[in-house]
This record gives sequence, structure tokens and C-alpha cells, in this order.
Amino acid sequence: MTTLIDNKKRPRHPEKAHKPDTKVLRKPAWIRVKAPTSRGFSKTNKIVRDKGLVTVCQEAACPNIGECWEKAHATFMILGDTCTRACAFCNIKTGLPGPVNNAEVNEIASAVVEMDLKHVVITSVDRDDLSDGGALHFTNVINAIRKKSSETTIEILTPDFLRKKGAVEMVIDAKPDVFNHNLETVPRNYLKIRPGARYYHSLRLLERVKERDPEQFTKSGLMVGLGESKEEIMQVMDDMRVAGVDFLTIGQYLQPTRKHAAVERFVTPEEFKAFETIARAKGFLMVSATPLTRSSYHADADFKQLRAARLTKRGH
Ligand code: SF4
Repeated sequence: MTTLIDNKKRPRHPEKAHKPDTKVLRKPAWIRVKAPTSRGFSKTNKIVRDKGLVTVCQEAACPNIGECWEKAHATFMILGDTCTRACAFCNIKTGLPGPVNNAEVNEIASAVVEMDLKHVVITSVDRDDLSDGGALHFTNVINAIRKKSSETTIEILTPDFLRKKGAVEMVIDAKPDVFNHNLETVPRNYLKIRPGARYYHSLRLLERVKERDPEQFTKSGLMVGLGESKEEIMQVMDDMRVAGVDFLTIGQYLQPTRKHAAVERFVTPEEFKAFETIARAKGFLMVSATPLTRSSYHADADFKQLRAARLTKRGH
């Protein structure tokens, strides 16, 4: 469990500091992660540190960091390390972010070259303080990677750009290979878990990507273990399919600290398997549903499968 205080002694989540501690459930045997001790991990860590990059792997305290970084698979987080939202599940620092660091655009592109990434995932904090929500910065990063490493496929995991007119369209037009935006949880949980967001806005964002650029792959994810029912999850799957989402990820919610939303229960590996079967039957091109699935987990290999699945569906 990570600390609520960052290394500069500023509370990471001032808005949660007054909340009572929640009861923490003991993790089941199937939530096992690799310790971050390998050589590959240290190499990735050095590149990230030397370039002053921010990763969601560290900021979100992702359980897969030992495995992913060993394989030089890191997810870069742009637009700073401070988020203007305060979701109940998220470990990213909240507060008023600093100005946008334009130098980050080239630093990310050089890291892609240095790490020899064939597929890169770029995400960001929410930047409700910026007039475009950070859309221009996203497009600049995409363009810089294309220029420096034209063969690298690019997956973005964006915020919802709520009330930022034209922002989503700007990012779609930069033509990432995969446009990911997570619905995160079922609509009933939104006020409690994702209070600054709107379920139908997020769904509409995904649909907008398909309308504007039908060839762009869309992807979205859900966390489970937050008190949702199986029927509610199936309804979200149907909503995603209506919006044309290609790739669904489902993973177990893990509580970053006692001040975050409590884990209501641990979903069993068998239940995840059943979700995968149902989702495939509903027509998703690709599904990843395991306890440790995260949006960017195995994104490189999954992208190849996603592309192959589309070709197969089209009869190639
Ligand atoms: S699953 Fe994603 S966020 Fe987690 S360590 Fe891997 S790349 Fe980073």
C-alpha cells in the first residue's frame, strides 16, 4: 500500500485527507505480482529518471510495474504529475498543475527511440485548467513520435475533455493508432467513484472517434470489485458496442490507500474468464479480462492481435 504523502511532504490527495480509513480486504492468492528487481527494470527506471519523465506506472502505483518495466514497457504520462480531478480510485496526485512543459514533447519522442519501442502508450492527467484540456499537447507528442520513430504504433489513453470544445476532434485528427478512453466503472458508481466525469459524455467521446475516423481503433476499460453487478457490467459492454468500441479491458480494482474507495470484493479468475467469453460474444474484436489487466498491460502484444482480428473479420 502506498503512502498518502509524497516525498515533498505535500499530501497527494488533500481532498481525501479528512476521510475515515476504510477497511482493507486481504488480497487473494491470484493477485500476485513480480517484484521490481530485474536488470531490465533498472534500465527502464534510469531512462525515465534521466529524462525527467512521468509514468502512470509509478504515479498510479501499478501492480504490474516489475513485469512491464523489465520488458521496457512503460506508459508515459504527459502534462505533468498533478491532476485537476479527484477520482476516488486513483492514486495520481491532485491539485493545481504547473504550466505545460513543451520540452516534454521531444523528451518523450527521444525516449521512444532510446527504448526502441514498437508500440507506445501515452496518457495524461486531467487538465481542466487548460482551455483545450491538453489536446494540443497530445497532438504535438503524437506528431513528434511519428517524426522520430515512424514505425512505432501509438496508443493514447485520454481524459474526457469535458466542456473543451473541439479538443477530442483535434486529438482524433492527429491519428493515433489506438484511441483509448476508460469508462472505468458502471454508471451507478459515477458520483461516488468518478465524481468529476459524466458516463454518457465518456461514452459519446468513444463514439465520436469512430464517427470521425472509423479506421482508428477504440479501446475502453472497466475496473471491477466496486460493488457493481454482473448485469450492470453487461449493460456497459452493450453501450460500448453501440459506440463501436473495438477493444475492452477489465481488471480488478485495487485500493491505493485506506483513504481511497474500498474494494468491495475480489472477482475470481473464473468470473473474469466468463466476462471475456460474454464480451467476445457481444462482438469486441479484442478482450483482455484478468485480475491484473490494466489499460496498458501487454498493450504491445495486444495491439498486434487487435490488428489481426480486424483483418480476419474483414476476410483477409
Ligand atoms: S500495466 Fe500499464 S501502467 Fe501498469 S506498469 Fe504496465 S505499462 Fe505501466
